Amino acid sequence: MVKKLVLLVVGIMMAALFAGCGNDAPKEQASKKIQVVTSFNAMAEFTKAIGGDKVEVSTIIPDGVEPHDFELKPENMKQLATAQVFVYNGFGMEPWAQQAIEAAKNDKLVTVVATKGVEAIKNTDPEEIKEHGAEDPHAWLSLKDAKIEVKNIKDALVKADPANKDYYEKNYTEYVGKLDAMIKKYEEQFAKAPHKNFVTGHAAFAYLSRDFGLEQNSVEDVFAEGEPNAAQLAKLIEYVKENNITTIFAEEMASPEVSKTLAKEVGAKVETIYTIESKEDDKTYLQRMDENLAKIAESLK
Ligand SMILES: [Zn+2]
Repeated sequence: MVKKLVLLVVGIMMAALFAGCGNDAPKEQASKKIQVVTSFNAMAEFTKAIGGDKVEVSTIIPDGVEPHDFELKPENMKQLATAQVFVYNGFGMEPWAQQAIEAAKNDKLVTVVATKGVEAIKNTDPEEIKEHGAEDPHAWLSLKDAKIEVKNIKDALVKADPANKDYYEKNYTEYVGKLDAMIKKYEEQFAKAPHKNFVTGHAAFAYLSRDFGLEQNSVEDVFAEGEPNAAQLAKLIEYVKENNITTIFAEEMASPEVSKTLAKEVGAKVETIYTIESKEDDKTYLQRMDENLAKIAESLK
């Protein structure tokens, strides 16, 4: 009886062992690619542009989750424990990042703060500073700062995978060329815009505005929270009227309802704009920046 049981147990163990072997073979092949964990969509976009088919990119913040509200879960630490590179934006966008890195206990992990070297735009609201830190995180929406972010990511990939240095350098040079072409397109469009003010739902465009001499005003703050009270809304309505603003932008991830309310109030139309904080309409970073340009330029006419 006991003998029979032992045989059964051994049998089960063998079966499990073989099943394990079978599953591991393809996995090992796939893991030849550099495993890169990124925090959110824009970081994944930049990493894919430089890493191409040498990297496998995952994103900690799931699509459809508002990144400013994200809270770290234990499974996220697991992702980092086996990754080779971790890319995050910094400037208070991922207040959980340091904790995640420490919990991962992964000595070989190359960590890159993509905004390293970007000139930060400081938050002015004391409440915001207390809650989220002193910096506005949205540097990836600046095409000029995107060039810095992409360079930091390229350097990290080279460090993690020096054998493919030339490949990453080539992709980097090509991508910077595309960013430069897009910057030129933005400059030409905005140079001829008769006014420079635009109103968004979520205050994500301060860096873009700095690049091109625009002025953003918004319904929600830098961290996509705090709907305006009656007095703030009244002020916004006045601002929209004074500046002849005919379009109110709305972001899927923030709360588009507030934008819609404001637009209704002033007889403006609502137009969507991409923040690239989450996957949006299955479009690349450059496609979304191109569409944002077209829409903002149209609204400034
Ligand atoms: Zn945001």
